[in-house]
Amino acid sequence: LASWSDYPFAISHSIERALPLAEHLFSELRERTGDGIGVTRASYGPGEQIAHDLLSEAARSLNLEIVQDAARNLYMTLPGADRQGPSWMTGSHLDSVPHGGNYDGAAGVIAGITVLAALRQTDFKPDRDITLVAIRGEEAGSWFRGRHNSLLGSRAALGRLDAEELQSAICVETGTPLAERMAGAGVNVDDLVNRRAAVVPARYKGFIELHIEQGPVLEQARVPVGVVSAIRGGLWARECVCLGSYAHAGAEPRSSRRDAVMALSEFITACEAKWIDIEKQGGDLVFTIGKLHTDSNVNALTKVAGEAKFCLDIRSGDRSTLEEIQAYVQEKARTIAGDRRVKFDFGPMTLISPTEMNPVLRQEMLSACAELGIKAIQMPSGGGHDAEEFAKAGIPASMIFIRNQNGSHNPDEAIRMEDFAQGARLLMRMLLH
Ligand SMILES: [Zn+2]
Repeated sequence: LASWSDYPFAISHSIERALPLAEHLFSELRERTGDGIGVTRASYGPGEQIAHDLLSEAARSLNLEIVQDAARNLYMTLPGADRQGPSWMTGSHLDSVPHGGNYDGAAGVIAGITVLAALRQTDFKPDRDITLVAIRGEEAGSWFRGRHNSLLGSRAALGRLDAEELQSAICVETGTPLAERMAGAGVNVDDLVNRRAAVVPARYKGFIELHIEQGPVLEQARVPVGVVSAIRGGLWARECVCLGSYAHAGAEPRSSRRDAVMALSEFITACEAKWIDIEKQGGDLVFTIGKLHTDSNVNALTKVAGEAKFCLDIRSGDRSTLEEIQAYVQEKARTIAGDRRVKFDFGPMTLISPTEMNPVLRQEMLSACAELGIKAIQMPSGGGHDAEEFAKAGIPASMIFIRNQNGSHNPDEAIRMEDFAQGARLLMRMLLH
C-alpha cells in the first residue's frame, strides 16, 4: 500500500486484529493495580511503575525503540521511512487517582500501542516515525500537596517543570518532597533542575492524545467519539464571603435586615440566569459553587445570618466568555450589595485562559471521522490534560475523546470496546497523515 491513510478499510481491519492486545493490557492493568475498590496507580509510586513495566514489555514484544527521559516518561517509537523529518507523537498518562478507574489515562496509551501493533502486524512502514509516550505524574493533584502545577511528566519532558516544585510539592503518602519521591522511582533529579527538554517541539509534526470523556456528553448525544475544541480555562475564587449583620430572627423587620444568606441566594440565582443566557447564545460555560456555608458556631435557628462563605469555579473554552462572566459577577455583587446593604468580598480571583486545540488538526479529524464512518461531535474538555502542555510548548496538539459511562476518577469508569476501536481507528488515520 502506497499511502494507507487513503484506505479506510485497511485501517478498520488492522485495528480489529490488534484489539485482543488492547483487551489483554486493560485486564492486566486492572488485575495488577487493583486495590479492592478500583485501581491505584500513584504518580511516581508503585502502581504507576507496574503500568509502565507492562507497557514497556508490550513495546519490546512489538520490537519498538524504547527510551526513557530524565523524568522516566516512556517513549516507544515505530521507525518511519524518513527518520529525519518531524514525527508524530501520541500518548497519555498511566497514573490514576486513588481508587480510580482503569481507563482515565491508560486508554490513550493503550490506543497508541494498539495502533503501533496494527502497523507492525501488517508490516507497513509509515512515512515518519510515530512515537507513543506513556506520561508520568498527570494526576499529581491527587498525590502531592503544597505548591505545584500538576501535569508533572509532560511539563518535565518539555522543560517546563519549575525547580522549586521539586521541593514545594509534598507526597501525601510519604510526606517527602517531590524530588525524593521521584528519585525513588529512578528519576535523575539533577537533569530536571536544569530543565533539559527531552521533547524538542521542532521535531514534532503534532501531538494527539486519546482520552476518555470525563462527563456524560457523548453518552447523552449517543456518539462514540468527541473531537476536543479546547481545554477549558477558568475563573477561580477560593475564599469568598458575603458580609451582612447578625440580628434577632423574630424581632428584626425585613426592611432593616442585612441578611447575608438572602443576598447570596439572589446573587447565585442571578448567576445561573446569566449562565442560561450565555448558553442560549451558543456560548460555553459551566458555573459551580461547590462550597456554601454559614458558621454553625455563630449562627443559629433564631439568627439572621451576618456572614456566608462560598467559592466559585467557573470554566469556559472561550476567554472572552470568562471575562464577560467575571465582569457580570462583580457588577451583580455591587448591585445586590447596594440594595441589601451587605458587602461581597471575592478574595483573590485567578483567571486561566483556555487552551485551544489546533484548528487544522481538528478539521482533519472531522474529515477523517466522515471518511471512516465514525459519528463524532466537537466539544470542549472540562478537565486539564497533558495535551495542553504540548500545545503551550508550540506543538500542534489535539485530543480524541471516547464515550465513557459513569464519569471518571472513580472505580466505575467504563468504556465499550467498540467505541475504543473507533477512537483507535481515528488515531491511526491521523498518525498516518
Ligand atoms: Zn486523565
